[in-house]
Amino acid sequence: MKPITYFVVVVVIATAGAFGWMMYRPSPVVENGRSQTMSDKVVKSDEEWRQQLTEDQYYVTRQRGTERAFTGQYWNTKEDGVYVCVCCGQPLFDARNKFDSGCGWPSFYSPSDKDHIFYRPDHSHFMERTEIVCSRCDAHLGHVFDDGPPPTGQRYCINSASLRLEKRTVKDEK
Ligand SMILES: [Zn+2]
Repeated sequence: MKPITYFVVVVVIATAGAFGWMMYRPSPVVENGRSQTMSDKVVKSDEEWRQQLTEDQYYVTRQRGTERAFTGQYWNTKEDGVYVCVCCGQPLFDARNKFDSGCGWPSFYSPSDKDHIFYRPDHSHFMERTEIVCSRCDAHLGHVFDDGPPPTGQRYCINSASLRLEKRTVKDEK
């Protein structure tokens, strides 16, 4: 192979590699138009999450998995309280905003605090969906859809494995 041919091949491979990376890198998390600047961000290594969480919790929250419908701990729960992130404890959903969607996952018509959730486009499985993650630790929670009940018309479809139901405290009352 002539040196010039060799050079061209190397350039083409490098360009294709860089372009491929740009196309397929994970979408940056955008918090309602702002980029992440939260100071109390929880960042842990994969190994630390693995030790802290059960296998199901790890699979759902850190590997963006989905539990099977009607199998999670909370899909049919009517108990009062506040659902917090199983990874970092940040309050995410209020049991008062939970509704029976019949889909087999805990469903809420709004988050308890909109700043506690990030939204990002999810193009996986040949679908256009909006993924929702915990703003504090990036835990995958589920997806949000536009077929929910009033007052918001939204359905936050959440994996039980990413949540922990805690008793309501005075601080949660707004
Ligand atoms: Zn979290």
